[in-house]
Amino acid sequence: MTQFPRRTFAIISHPDAGKTTLTEKLLYFGGAIHLAGEVKARGQTRRARSDWMKIEQQRGISVTSSVMTFERQGITFNLLDTPGHEDFSEDTYRTLTAVDSAVMVIDAAKGIEPQTRKLFEVCRLRNVPIITFVNKVDREGRDPFSLLDEVAEMLQLDVCPMSWPVGMGGEFEGVYDLYANTLSRPEGDSREFMGKAIPFTGIDDPELAKILSPEAMIRLNDEAELAQGGYSSFDPEAYRAGNLTPVYFGSALKDFGVAELIAALADYAPPPRAQPAEPAPVSPDEPEVTGFVFKVQANMDPNHRDRIAFMRLCSGVFKRGMKLTPTGHGKPIAVHSPILFFAQNRELADEAFPGDIIGIPNHGTLRVGDTLSEKAAIRFTGLPNFAPEILRRVVLKDFTKTKQLRKALDDMAEEGVTQVFYPDIGSNWIIGVVGQLQLEVLLSRLDAEYKVAAGLEPAPYETARWITAEDPLELKTFAEINRGAMAKDRDGNPVFLAKSAWEVNYIAERYAKIRFAATRER
Ligand code: GDP
Repeated sequence: MTQFPRRTFAIISHPDAGKTTLTEKLLYFGGAIHLAGEVKARGQTRRARSDWMKIEQQRGISVTSSVMTFERQGITFNLLDTPGHEDFSEDTYRTLTAVDSAVMVIDAAKGIEPQTRKLFEVCRLRNVPIITFVNKVDREGRDPFSLLDEVAEMLQLDVCPMSWPVGMGGEFEGVYDLYANTLSRPEGDSREFMGKAIPFTGIDDPELAKILSPEAMIRLNDEAELAQGGYSSFDPEAYRAGNLTPVYFGSALKDFGVAELIAALADYAPPPRAQPAEPAPVSPDEPEVTGFVFKVQANMDPNHRDRIAFMRLCSGVFKRGMKLTPTGHGKPIAVHSPILFFAQNRELADEAFPGDIIGIPNHGTLRVGDTLSEKAAIRFTGLPNFAPEILRRVVLKDFTKTKQLRKALDDMAEEGVTQVFYPDIGSNWIIGVVGQLQLEVLLSRLDAEYKVAAGLEPAPYETARWITAEDPLELKTFAEINRGAMAKDRDGNPVFLAKSAWEVNYIAERYAKIRFAATRER
């Protein structure tokens, strides 16, 4: 089996920090596009997407808005796009469930912004390690120390400066790599980095002083000493555990720090790791093909009404035409025309490896959160909550175990194994699952891990919806009128339990001010 190592990652940032520009440069440096400068006219950020698609057609390379793949140093990089708009969406969350690491782009003039922070929190929930890229050092920015301290304090991470800006804005004289001891200098009228970093024996190398201005030299001397003394030194293990972030200063627009960033992803970022699943985590080395759907996109091709389900491959070697079964519902699907996102190696397009993303055309059978596998005996967990399709009443056989039962149900809901709903009236706790297998898992775990003997009975409900409203009073009134059908989920969010999908529609029509959601972020 020939397999390039994989790095599956996403870029997280606040709008305008430079994610699009950096993405282009990564693809450009990775050889996936040869037109980086032409891809995007200034100020037309979102045009880049459609242009990539055009380039894709012209050159026969795969660059889409959702998954971008490039190869460098014998490594295949899968860059997953996270939606750029400001409202934090489930889509973004789910995409981050499918990556092994992330690059956090920060604007040097602005530091950590709200969206960066939210996305970071999602990464932290899943222990996704982060490399920080402080962008736009070619412009006036904040003092690098204050930026580092902000990252350390706001995100509670150890920071480790890997490179250092020699001045910023008008005084910008380059970026010094503190580990490789090289200087990347701005050149020509455009003040870009032309690709040749100059090596030195260290900051005290007399040759360096001949290149930098005397003021810059003094400053770099002082700052580098403080930077190296005042922060953690780089520890790959601490980074991979999500406790430390290496920080690169650069400019995506002027090409500073981009090659270093790719090298850091290649050298330090984790390859695909075991994914949380029931009944046990799935290691990428396992031979059975497994994966989960983290995104479904409609209308990618105007000629087809198909949807594309994006599956992250978690184990096994996927081959075109293979049959995969969605756990919990549906019959096996033969994946005859998968979309594989490889930039160059066309001949590899018939197979995919753990960490790769496969686009599966379907007519709506596949949904976000679905597990696909050859045997359908596992289910990946930790994805967002979705309206359960099977609801059951939990019947306790020993009433002294009420507390243990509650804890067990809460724990499993948190893990994403099952959902739990506590009706406002009565004590018949309801559990919800997406697939039959989860019911068995639940009962056996109750017994084995929590020593609770319980049974399951049909519930008088068929489905559940999370309800919200602009006006809290509306919500309260609704809940009072429909008290018999109201419950709380594990986190205390109000849920409407319905006897049928028809009832949901009927009620939703009558209460126009209440939103009935079939999914909820966990
Ligand atoms: P996104 O919203 O995060 O995707 O940000 P963009 O990549 O679209 O960049 C926002 C703006 O910042 C654009 O006008 C870019 O040209 C500009 N920009 C991005 N990177 C740099 C940089 O390194 N230096 C400077 N001066 N401008 C940059």
